[in-house]
This record gives sequence, C-alpha cells and structure tokens, in this order.
Amino acid sequence: MQKIKIIWFRQDFRLENNPAYYEISNSEEKFIAIYAFDQKKFNERSAQRWWLYKTLQYIEKKLSNKGIIFKIFACDIIEAIQRIIKDKSIETIYWNELNEPSEIKKDLILENYLNENGIKYKKFKGNLLQDPFIVKKKDGTPFQVFTPYWKNAEEQYLRNNNYINKVSNFKNTPIKNTNKETLDNFIKPRKNWYVKFEKYWNVGEENAKILLKDFINKKISNYATNRDIPSSEGTSKLSPYLTFGEISVQTLFDECYKISKKNIGFRKFINEIGWREFSHHLINHFPKMESGNLRKQFDKFKWVKDSDKLTKWKKGQTGYPIVDAGMRELRETGWMHNRVRMITASFLVKHLRINWIEGEKYFRDSLLDFNTANNVAGWQWVAGCGADAAPYFRIFNPILQGEKFDPEGMYVKQWIKELSMLPKKFIHKPWELPVELCNQYGFDLARDYIKPIVKHEEARKLALNAFSELKT
Ligand SMILES: Cc1cc2nc3c(=O)[nH]c(=O)nc-3n(C[C@H](O)[C@H](O)[C@H](O)COP(=O)(O)OP(=O)(O)OC[C@H]3O[C@@H](n4cnc5c(N)ncnc54)[C@H](O)[C@@H]3O)c2cc1C
Repeated sequence: MQKIKIIWFRQDFRLENNPAYYEISNSEEKFIAIYAFDQKKFNERSAQRWWLYKTLQYIEKKLSNKGIIFKIFACDIIEAIQRIIKDKSIETIYWNELNEPSEIKKDLILENYLNENGIKYKKFKGNLLQDPFIVKKKDGTPFQVFTPYWKNAEEQYLRNNNYINKVSNFKNTPIKNTNKETLDNFIKPRKNWYVKFEKYWNVGEENAKILLKDFINKKISNYATNRDIPSSEGTSKLSPYLTFGEISVQTLFDECYKISKKNIGFRKFINEIGWREFSHHLINHFPKMESGNLRKQFDKFKWVKDSDKLTKWKKGQTGYPIVDAGMRELRETGWMHNRVRMITASFLVKHLRINWIEGEKYFRDSLLDFNTANNVAGWQWVAGCGADAAPYFRIFNPILQGEKFDPEGMYVKQWIKELSMLPKKFIHKPWELPVELCNQYGFDLARDYIKPIVKHEEARKLALNAFSELKT
C-alpha cells in the first residue's frame, strides 16, 4: 500500500513560518494536507465559521498552486485518519500544537491512537513565542502578575530565539483541489448575518502581511496614544489573523523588533503581544479558568440573572452610547476595539452584575478573533476574578470613558446613526439634552434611542456593595 506523510492544519493557515509545514515540505517526500472540521467547537463560534470557511478556501488555492493535495474532512481528526488508512498507509503526521488545555487533551487522545496504530507523528510549536510552561518564577510556580511575567518571558525569548524566516521553496505542478461540497454543506455559515463581514475583512496570509506592513510603517509610532481611541483605527487589527494562524506571532514580534526607532508605541505594542502570551500562560497553568473564576472567593458572588437586560446588552440597547456603539460594532464587523471591550464587559459585570461567563459566551460566538485564553483572561481581568485583575472597586463610568476616549463622539456616531445629529457635549449622555435642544434637533430619547436601562450612580453603588462583600 502507498505510504504517505500528512500535514494536519489546525489554526495555522499559513505557509510561511509554519514549523510543521516547513519540516514536511523539506522532507523531500510526497505528502498531503488535511483539515478536520470540529463541528461541536464551531457551534459555539458562529462568527468564526465565516472566517474559517473563507480561510479554508484561501489555503486550498495556495496548496493547489503548489501541487499539494488538500482534503477537508467534516469529522474529528481520528475519524479523518481512519478514513485515510482505509486505502493509504500513513507513515508520519505533522502538526503544530495549539496551546489551549482542551486542544492539548485532544492531542493526547490522538497520540495514543497513533501509537496504538503504529503511525509516527511530529509535533511543532508555532502558536506562541514561548511554551507556556517554560517561563516560571524562581520558586518554580507560575506567574500571576503580568509585568514580572513579561520581563522574564521577553528576555528569555530574545536570548534563545534564533529567528530565521522559515520559507519553504516547495513547489510541484499545480493541481485542482475541490472541497466545495464539504465546505458548502458543513462549514459555510447558514445565517445571512455574516455576509456583511465581507465588507470589513480580507482573510488570508498575504492580507495579514499587508496589514502588518501598514501597521509598522504608519501606525506603530503613534500606537501608545491611538490604541485607546476607538475611532482612530490605531491598532493593527491582526487579531483574527493571529487566531487563525494566518500570521505567526513570531513574525509579528520579530518584524517589530527590526524597527530602528523603538519608541513608546513600539514598547506598548510588544507588551500587548506579551498579554497574549500571558493569557496563554495562565490558562495552561490554571485550566479551570476556562469555565470558572481564577480567584475562588468570586464563587460565592451573587450574580444577577436578568435575561432581558442581558439581551439589551447584546443588542446594544443599554442607553449608554459608548456601550451600545461597541456592541453594534461587534455585531456588524465581528470585532470590537479593545478599549470598548473593557467598557462593555465592565458594564455587563459591574453595572448589570451579570456573570462574566455570559459575556464570555457571547463574545466567543460573535468575535472573529475569539481565542479561549485571551477571551477568558480578558473577562476575568475586567470582572476582577482573574490574575493581575482590575480591583473590584474600579467601575468604568461609561459616560466619562466615552468623553475621554471618544471626545468628539465620532465612534458613537459611526455605530449609532440615531445619535449622529447630537452635539458632542451630549453625545455620551443624550438623556441630558435640554428640551429646547431636543426640539431644535428633532430628537426624542425614547423614540429615537433608548432610556438608560440602569442609572450609573445607583448601579455603581450596588456593585460596590455587592463586590465589597467578597473581601470578608
Ligand atoms: C473582555 C475582553 C475579551 C477579549 N477577547 C479576546 C479574544 O477572544 N481574542 C483576542 O485575540 N483578544 C481578545 N481580547 C484582547 C484585545 O481586545 C484584542 O486582542 C484586541 O482588541 C485585538 O485587536 P488588534 O489586533 O487590533 O490589537 P492590537 O492592539 O494591534 O494588538 C496586537 C495583538 O496583541 C494581542 N493583544 C492585544 N491586546 C491584548 C489583550 N488585552 N490581551 C491579550 N492579547 C492582546 C492580540 O493578539 C492582538 O492582535 C479581549 C479583551 C477583553 C477586554
């Protein structure tokens, strides 16, 4: 029987700086590429199904051009292998690890299966700068505070990294791969909601590289200031590309390090990459974080169950413009600016006192860049129950946050057209617009927008009381 090698693509849809692809394509033997679609996983990630559908088409084309057979399976990886070995004998499977506890568990099951069936495998690291288990405190325990973690992690990476841009020259006569049926029947999103993402995103490795170049040339020097201004397009917007592995985090880090003028913008950006590493460090050392509070005293917190308010938050109908603009940006584009993620998350957890788990679930379903580590760590940071988290008494005031980070109201006006005629003084508190100005602008709060679903000062007091009980 024919013996073949296989590369299993997971969330590493790139050919450059992809360790598993680099090794297999330099092995001078025939190989095929596969992808196994985990339906259960993507049932909870509706928006990401769209990106996945697009990126699979994109990489299919790239592999076809290189003469590499690519087969998409609508089943888990073990079943995919079982189907392949019906008429081919597999010699070795190559893949890149995904550093999430649930994926590591799946890998262990796969490795057992491969060992039992005499199939060799080679695993590579390509998802993070560092293995999450390598960086530890002097006493051998994991870090729980960002600054010392990143100081150690970054130093270690720079010391040990012999960066070479791993570009494989592999090329055969182009072929035509056709996975259309599997893609359309199993992976293509059913709802129309996603169609509009086409307006905002161009998936794929080459597009990620263009964004990175643009970011380094035009944005990184002002990143320290602009990263907090949601209307300014001051961040890289590379997060979905990183999540789907269309660009390697190593490429991102190392290309930034090549910049000769390393100002505060450079430092802030490198630190954000550090937060991504830190989130993965945490979730791997404390896997229970995936579904519960890292700080156990939060287990006794009495969260409010209010499906009506939760729905209003999801739909961007809280009556607080900066919160609603964020939630509407998310629904429209599958992405939300980091500053606004913090404000909207804080509003859910502190103003409404709804369990962060609900917000995490909604973001998981709606974000194109969702990854377990960043999302869970982000939510627990805001709620105060995570590592190095915001203290419980830090309650973002959505009006002041809006006035500080969206002073002209440009972000709000972009996402809430109903408010576009309001003067900037009232854009973050339209309920204060005096009657004569309401008449002048033809604006009626209840008719044209929404009365706030909670009063800020009251909600703040209730939250402070409720969260302060956790101290005792
Ligand atoms: C409640 C909440 C949920 C979040 N959920 C996710 C998520 O599911 N997936 C996700 O990638 N990020 C998440 N973040 C982090 C952050 O908001 C996004 O990474 C960032 O907005 C992506 O935009 P960008 O690529 O333009 O970021 P840039 O500012 O250009 O940063 C570059 C990269 O650094 C990483 N990064 C930036 N900020 C953070 C951060 N605070 N924590 C960890 N990594 C960071 C990302 O990989 C990002 O692409 C969440 C933050 C919060 C507060």
